[in-house]
Formats: sequence, structure tokens, C-alpha cells
Amino acid sequence: SSMYAYEALPVAEWFRRNRELAGFHNPTRALYQTIRELTENSLDATETYGILPNIYLRINVEDEQKGWVSVYAEDNGIGIPGNEIPNVFGRVFYSSKYRIKQHRGVFGLGLKMVVLYSQSTTNKPVFVRSATLKSDKIYEFQIMIDTNSNSPIILDRREYPNKYRWHGTAVKVYLEGNWLAAKKRIEDYLKRTAIIAPYAEIVFKGPDLELWLKRRTTKLPPAPKEGLPHPKSVDVDTIKQMLQESRGMTLLEFLMENFDAVGEGTAKTFLEWAGFNPNAKATALTPEELVRLVEKMKQFEGWRRPRSDWLSPVGPELLEIGAKAILGAEAVFAVTRKPESYGGHPFIVEAAVAWGGQIPPADKPLLLRYANKIPLLYDEGADVARKVVDEFNWQNYKVKFPAPLAVIIHVCSTKIPYASAGKEAVAEVPEIEKEMRLALRDAAKKLRLYLSRKEKEMELLNKYIS
Ligand code: ADP
Ligand code: MG
Repeated sequence: SSMYAYEALPVAEWFRRNRELAGFHNPTRALYQTIRELTENSLDATETYGILPNIYLRINVEDEQKGWVSVYAEDNGIGIPGNEIPNVFGRVFYSSKYRIKQHRGVFGLGLKMVVLYSQSTTNKPVFVRSATLKSDKIYEFQIMIDTNSNSPIILDRREYPNKYRWHGTAVKVYLEGNWLAAKKRIEDYLKRTAIIAPYAEIVFKGPDLELWLKRRTTKLPPAPKEGLPHPKSVDVDTIKQMLQESRGMTLLEFLMENFDAVGEGTAKTFLEWAGFNPNAKATALTPEELVRLVEKMKQFEGWRRPRSDWLSPVGPELLEIGAKAILGAEAVFAVTRKPESYGGHPFIVEAAVAWGGQIPPADKPLLLRYANKIPLLYDEGADVARKVVDEFNWQNYKVKFPAPLAVIIHVCSTKIPYASAGKEAVAEVPEIEKEMRLALRDAAKKLRLYLSRKEKEMELLNKYIS
């Protein structure tokens, strides 16, 4: 054979071989990650569409000797159209979430990693049942992935009449999973989900663990709208793709039509400043001009800041309800900061400090990290939130350690700068770090007020007694 043995690895095969990049390192992480991907999809399919989530999760030990378990997840979400089910489960990078809007899912990868891991450990297909809103049919499929062609293999397909107008999705997979080792993480993950989504009802049944995380409120955070990219957030390739659909527009029209925060005035000012003719055909740009245009778009200071309608922060009220209920705190103080942006991507940071009650005193605060309402449990050391909390000067806020203190930090964005494809840590972006610091300060100020009031009450009480 030749020493020049080149070949292209199909995308699904690449992910199967490199599954640790997506969180499927071993039977423990894989089980945790499976629960995570299914839960996140269920939450996306419900709350984003104004449906109060009901999620049922079950883990069974199927074969103790082989270490096989099954995971079943069911939701009351919007469902998946029958003709889309095979691709949604069987084609890597197939998604309805490649839009400018806050979602938990981002890569179009989660379900496929679940299926790939499942089939490469047990050689069993994924089972799916789904019905969309008002559908008169329920679809059932058994699917595997052909990793060479990155396409679904349909092993079984059935339809039933949807007599009771059920809607939602149920998924069952068999995989090699270590329940005992994953148990604590899964419990933490679900409880932390309940803190940030107190409007969800989550029932979990495991071999020796049952959780019933009740709905604590029927208030949902405002659903995110779908948006356009901000001029500072695009690169040359994105613009090229957009130009293909520009149907003879002038540069001026192209900018106004395709971007957020660009009115006619702004577009004209920009083009003049950047040295482009507003009436030139957008498709007539040379490759060099295209690069210059993108460069200028990034440099221009006159754009409006990106809109935050695409985001769905939880808000202080829900954060306080969630943290009180699940952490059993004596008091919770939460803040939602104003929208900010980095590289043209809007983001909002929320923070809460929870004090006393059932929170055990410790030498440093318990940190609960969230990104787009997803609890992040691994890689804490790589997360910018850890750094912010460690560097925070708690003495200024009347907190003396050991203290019964938990800190919640949530960042939501149309693009979370994750440190890896496993989505477990938020990377260090200066704008985000700064907002985290300010959010924590705002929440800690409220805590300080509370603690000094308590202190005064104690003093009064002591005087009275002595
Ligand atoms: P992502 O969540 O990043 O889009 P996934 O592979 O996890 O990628 O899911 C692919 C697509 O399948 C989603 O974009 C969504 O449209 C659909 N989907 C997955 N799970 C559900 C569900 N429980 N209910 C409705 N749609 C779902
Ligand atoms: Mg997903």
C-alpha cells in the first residue's frame, strides 16, 4: 500500500469515534449526557412554544452483566412531523434550531450522539413516538444511523390514529451506562433544572431513585422571538451565502433587509464611511471588497446594539421561586442585568445569591452555573463564572466564611461561547465576565442589606434580653 493513504471520514463516523468531544466519554458520562440531551430537547419543544413542560424520564437496568441500561423520555411538546423524524434522529447536523433565537440545542448533534453511542454499544435502534400539535396521527419509528452516509436506517415505521389528540415526543434508547456512578450527577442536573425552570414538572424514575420535581409556578418566561444577525456578528462566508439570496438588491437594500439594527440612515452612514456605493449591486462585490466590507462592519461604531428580543431570560421572580423551593434557602436575591453584546451577539446575565436555610455552611460559595437555562455540571474550573465568584470580595458584603451561601449565575445568548462541544463551560469573553461581576455585585448588595438588617435585629434583641 502507498504511504499516501488519504481518505475522508464521514461526519457521523467522525463523531462516533470522537464522542468524548460531545460529552460521551464513558458509560457514566454517556448516561448523564443522554438524560441531558433528551431533557433539553423536551424543554425546548415545550416552553419555547408557550407550553408548560411535563417531562417524564425513566432509567432501567436492562442487563446487569453487560452493563446495559435503557433511557426513556417523554414530553408534551410540539412533537416532530412524521416525515422529519428519520432525519432528526438519523442525520448528524440536522436541526430546527439553526436560527437566531435562544435555544438549549445549538449544534443539531445531541440526539444523533445519543443514537450513535447507543448503537455502538448495544447495536439496538432508537425507538421514537411522536405527534405534532393537532395531528390526527401518531408516528412510531425504530431508527439507526448509517455512519458512512450520515443518513437514517428505518427499521420499523408505524402510524396510529391520534384519538385523544396527544402531542409530544417519546424516545427510548438502550446503551451501556453506569447508573450507580452517574446517579448523583443526574440527580444534581435535574434538581438544578428545576431551579431555573420552576414552571416545569419533571418526574424521574431510576433503579433506586425517584424524583418528583413539582411545578412551582405556571408563569413561563417570555418566549424568544426569531431574529436576524447583527452586522458585527457575521463573517465572509455568511455574507456570501446571504448574497446568493439577494436577488439583485443594492448594497443599501441588502444591509437593511438582512441585518438586525440597520435602518436606512445607519446603512447609508455606514456605507459612506466604509467607502462603498450604496446603489451598487450587492452581488457585484469582488472577493477583496467582500472581505473589506466584513472588516468595516466589525469596526463600525454606529450600529445599534443587538436586540435582546431573541433572548429568554428567566427573571428574578422565577429564579427566587426555584432557588427557594429546591435549595430550601432562607432568602434568595436575584437580578437580571440589562442586555449587552459581544461580537454582535446579544446576551443577558442573571445572578442570584441564596442564603441560609438548608444550605450547608462551606468555605466557599456553592456555585450553580447555567447557560441558556442548561445547568452546567462538569469542567467548572474552565468556566469564567468560577473565576468571577472566586475573585469576588465577599467581605465587602458582610459574608464571612464558612457561610451557607449558594450563587447562581446564568448567561443567556443567541450564541453561548462554550469552551467545548460538550457544552459544559462558558469560555472567557471579557464582556460576559464583566456582566457576571456586575450581576453578582447587584445581587450581593441585596444580601448585604438583608444581613445587616438581621444583625441589627439581633443587637436589639440582645440589648433587650440583657
Ligand atoms: P438540536 O437540539 O441541537 O437542534 P438534536 O439532535 O438534539 O439537535 O435535535 C434535532 C432536532 O430534533 C431539534 O432541532 C428539534 O427540531 C427536533 N427535536 C428533538 N427532540 C425533540 C422533542 N422532544 N420534541 C420536538 N422536537 C424535537
Ligand atoms: Mg438537542
